[in-house]
Amino acid sequence: MERLIDKLEKDRILSREEFALLISSRTPQLSEYLFEKARNIRHKYYGNTVYIRGLIEFTNYCKNDCLYCGIRCSNKNVSRYRLTKEEILECCRKGYALGFRTFVLQGGEDPYYTDEILADIISTIKGNHPDCAVTLSIGERSYESYLKLHEAGADRYLLRHETANFDHYSRLHAPKLSLQNRMQCLKNLKAIGYQVGTGFMVGSPFQTPECLADDLLFIAELMPHMVGIGPFIPHHDTPFAGYSAGTVDLTLFMLGLIRLMLPSALIPATTALGTIDPRGREKGVLAGANVVMPNLSPLNVRNKYLLYDNKICTGDEAAECLNCMKRRMQSIGYEVVVSRGDHIPENHSEPR
Ligand code: SAH
Repeated sequence: MERLIDKLEKDRILSREEFALLISSRTPQLSEYLFEKARNIRHKYYGNTVYIRGLIEFTNYCKNDCLYCGIRCSNKNVSRYRLTKEEILECCRKGYALGFRTFVLQGGEDPYYTDEILADIISTIKGNHPDCAVTLSIGERSYESYLKLHEAGADRYLLRHETANFDHYSRLHAPKLSLQNRMQCLKNLKAIGYQVGTGFMVGSPFQTPECLADDLLFIAELMPHMVGIGPFIPHHDTPFAGYSAGTVDLTLFMLGLIRLMLPSALIPATTALGTIDPRGREKGVLAGANVVMPNLSPLNVRNKYLLYDNKICTGDEAAECLNCMKRRMQSIGYEVVVSRGDHIPENHSEPR
């Protein structure tokens, strides 16, 4: 199996069968072998620095009904909220003072936020903080909408494909959503000129090693700038309440494989990883991740943006979250830096 990891390091791709075999033959020793390589590659491009993104969860209204997600429209137990423009700007002001240079606006698919409303918010943030990047994570929209938001100043877009296996996709989502459209959205975002992030959940119901192999093959085809993966974690008010969560080990293994495939990608150690393991984010960085995303949302809405159960950091002020993260990274020899943290374009012969 180590030979397959060597081959992945060299060729940056394996066949579907090889990926599936590697994933299903995973052992702790093999994982260590992978993580060491993943760390070395990450160090070539990013040294021991960790980029931070300030996450602003600005709406938990959602018109979709994804079977895994706690804020799905049919969950009537959610207390819904929307942040005003002024509240969002205030999160950015606070975040800027703390050293954040990227703001991620994430939310459910909420039709209240029209292109006009969003463009106004984005251009005001960029006007107030010209040295910052704005990232959107607001689901599927039309090409024209993505274009308008890009013209308003949005730099990056996160849209996880969730699973690249068509059959699996249809078992996780309501019939209204299709993998084909999701993939088209990602291609549109790339064509418009966003730095694009995709990703998937690890251990979601019905997932097989072949599904995960399909995820990796799709990522190799798309060549995104960012890849966010995290364990699936059940939410008690969803149809998947009774399923078990994805494991730390498999999530880290997938993260390591992605680092070998995309040496200069921006890969977060996600909140979900920190939720299933108290040192999950540290372990993520040690498996090749180079980004963390502390929460900048106002305290009074923190416990309303619950995609899954037991989410961490729902009671902490932004400053506390950031300090906690700095300490965590220092404890493993890494350093949180003040930077936009853009993707380093890859130069195969001469990585930095
Ligand atoms: N509406 C936006 C943002 C979604 S929330 C969009 O469609 O892109 C961000 C991510 O949280 C999702 O892409 C999904 O991968 C993840 N997520 C949702 N429910 C989850 C759960 N129960 N466990 C783990 N991750 C979950």
